[in-house]
Amino acid sequence: MQEEVPVQQLKMIPKVDRVLEWEAVRKLLATYPRELVLRAVRSVLDKLRSGARAGGLDDSAFLEPAVCAAVAHELAQLSRPSLQRVINGSGIVIHTNLGRSILPEAARNALNTIAFSYSNLEFDLEAGVRGSRYSHVEALLCELTGAEAAIVVNNNAAAVLLSLSSMAAGREAVVSRGELVEIGGSFRIPEVMRLSGVTLREVGTTNRTHPRDYSSAANEQTAVFLKVHCSNFAVLGFTAEVTAQELVALGAAAGVPVLADMGSGNLIDLSGRLPVPEPTVQEFVRAGVDVITFSGDKLLGGPQAGIIVGKKPFIEAMKKHQLLRALRMDKLTLASLEATLALYRDEMVALKEVPTLRMLTATLPELTARAKKISAFLRRRTPQGISFKLSEGFSQAGGGTLPLLNLPSMLIEVAVEGLSPNDIESRLRKSEIPVIGRINKNAFLLDPRTLLDSDLSDLAAAISALAG
Ligand SMILES: *Cc1c(COP(=O)(O)O)cnc(C)c1O
Repeated sequence: MQEEVPVQQLKMIPKVDRVLEWEAVRKLLATYPRELVLRAVRSVLDKLRSGARAGGLDDSAFLEPAVCAAVAHELAQLSRPSLQRVINGSGIVIHTNLGRSILPEAARNALNTIAFSYSNLEFDLEAGVRGSRYSHVEALLCELTGAEAAIVVNNNAAAVLLSLSSMAAGREAVVSRGELVEIGGSFRIPEVMRLSGVTLREVGTTNRTHPRDYSSAANEQTAVFLKVHCSNFAVLGFTAEVTAQELVALGAAAGVPVLADMGSGNLIDLSGRLPVPEPTVQEFVRAGVDVITFSGDKLLGGPQAGIIVGKKPFIEAMKKHQLLRALRMDKLTLASLEATLALYRDEMVALKEVPTLRMLTATLPELTARAKKISAFLRRRTPQGISFKLSEGFSQAGGGTLPLLNLPSMLIEVAVEGLSPNDIESRLRKSEIPVIGRINKNAFLLDPRTLLDSDLSDLAAAISALAG
């Protein structure tokens, strides 16, 4: 008689029209578009059908209260935005998959003002004539980097594309084989060069490139010497790299300008705060590099943007280039970038206010205190059967920056009775506010380095939901 159950339960599945008349669903119809409610009802009924066939469903699942609750839940899922907030417990500060840098508070005010008002985006208030959107951050960028001129586009890939197109289209760019990098998301320097109509002249070998390699490659077709900062990998061992200073001297001798793609774009000397050296944009400007490009949302800690600083004639030519229109950045990015850059006028302010810098430079004692505070909070807020243990480990910079960097941290190991670390990882990732942690040596770990104070209540709620 076991087979009878599915047949009986299939008969219990209500008709769509009937469900739409139930009081609770009628209320939902007042709030949500009818099409969406219909989709939710159909999806719930489909699930009941397959549940009935598979067996194991209680009869109560087919009754009005359970069906209405399921429809409400389904509707909440359907109307949830695709792009949503997540809690980053991975310890990876510049996590490209999680949106790279989070913005400083100063950017919140700027965004709030500019997003909901008209602005002088392209209007010169002084002269009362059309202005340029590129003017808003140029003076600030020049002040901070010491460069003569600056322009900002959508991202650093666009900055490299515009620089190469403007400086070298139809001609050759000389680049070291050791620097023909691929960045995550399959951005490849050689591909970008082809797209910009530039012929690539590779010199040197993967691990060693010498000054003479550049000078002997230079000919009347050479338009630039390109230097690409190895921001997401490191060549170790028997290596030789031509420095920016050397390349500028070689360029001057050959009459060839130097373009440097710095990738991560660091404006503060972090030596002493980070265990590996990372050159600053100012150093490259002082060395005489003609054009420098870098990202806005890596080490700089601002919005996605591609910043180009350098000598005036090159930047002026880019401002007139047709490609610029396709690569131009929007006003919200400009507003948040200006607010972020302004913090760099005082290094100490930037280190404190820019979340990316604050997280990267957090020390082990600071992180230990934070791990203790967070785990105590979570213990108070979560039920029995869930435990928290501290263990020393490492965090990473991420985002194609500082490849050799393993930053010491104090990690919080979360254990739940009856759940494996993989179960915990997967359930937290799918919780209402997703939590991203990592698994190491059969333990589920949260790194306090990237957890925000404003995350803690929601984190406790997500972890509590793991019990029972
Ligand atoms: C990250 C990176 C890029 C790409 O920058 P986006 O801002 O992601 O477009 C280009 N070059 C280097 C060296 C990088 O590190």
